[in-house]
Amino acid sequence: MRKQIAAANWKMNLTYQQGVALLQTMVSAEISLKENHIAVFAVPFPYLEMAVDTVQHKKNYFISAQNCSDKKSGAYTGEVSAEMLKSLTLDYCLVGHSERREYFGESNLMLADKVNLCLLNGITPIFCCGEALQTREQNKQNSFVENQLKQSLFHLSKDEILKIVIAYEPIWAIGTGKTASTEQAQEMHAYIRSVLKNQYGESFSDQISILYGGSVKAGNAKEIFASKDVDGGLVGGASLLASEFLEIIRALK
Ligand code: PEP
Repeated sequence: MRKQIAAANWKMNLTYQQGVALLQTMVSAEISLKENHIAVFAVPFPYLEMAVDTVQHKKNYFISAQNCSDKKSGAYTGEVSAEMLKSLTLDYCLVGHSERREYFGESNLMLADKVNLCLLNGITPIFCCGEALQTREQNKQNSFVENQLKQSLFHLSKDEILKIVIAYEPIWAIGTGKTASTEQAQEMHAYIRSVLKNQYGESFSDQISILYGGSVKAGNAKEIFASKDVDGGLVGGASLLASEFLEIIRALK
């Protein structure tokens, strides 16, 4: 049974005090999760230790970093390594969010290094992929996303690929209030799964969780998550409000 995941991406939002309050509300909320339901909170670096402590007794709640360095260690001022994240007992790390690709020049090959370092340190990368509007308008989204997967992930062994979570996030739907239609989301998720199947075989591709990201809210989550190949969502804006994100977790199938 594939993991169904609701992942919150706080991005560069909330003060420390607001973050503490939000996580405490999430932890104290009555919520009954199935065995394969998981809630992940990708919080800013300075909040990670507090976040790990706050959720540690809550079953199926996990903490994620929003990024890590592509370097192992050394003279890289301001960077945070996967090994440092591991030392905080972190379970997940976002890798290759479109904002990192766009504003910080992260390439597919650099992301392959980040994926490797996460795996080396026992951290599950939530690998983000997705096309810009222009690429979709040219109907080139499939080859674009396939290339992102090939260059950043397909050096991995079968055992390693099972440790990856993929988040498909069409850039034109992130923070815009515009979601992909359920058909567009299912179509791309099925395509990603078929590409994984060609590379690793069906018994492997069937086990990999593929999340949808792009303006998921309490009001549309159930419909989006209901699609066969959609295994939950990566959520930005709507994860900053406890009531919204709790509904999104409850919408997991
Ligand atoms: C995201 O940050 O990955 C995201 C999907 O943002 P939003 O939900 O705000 O579109």
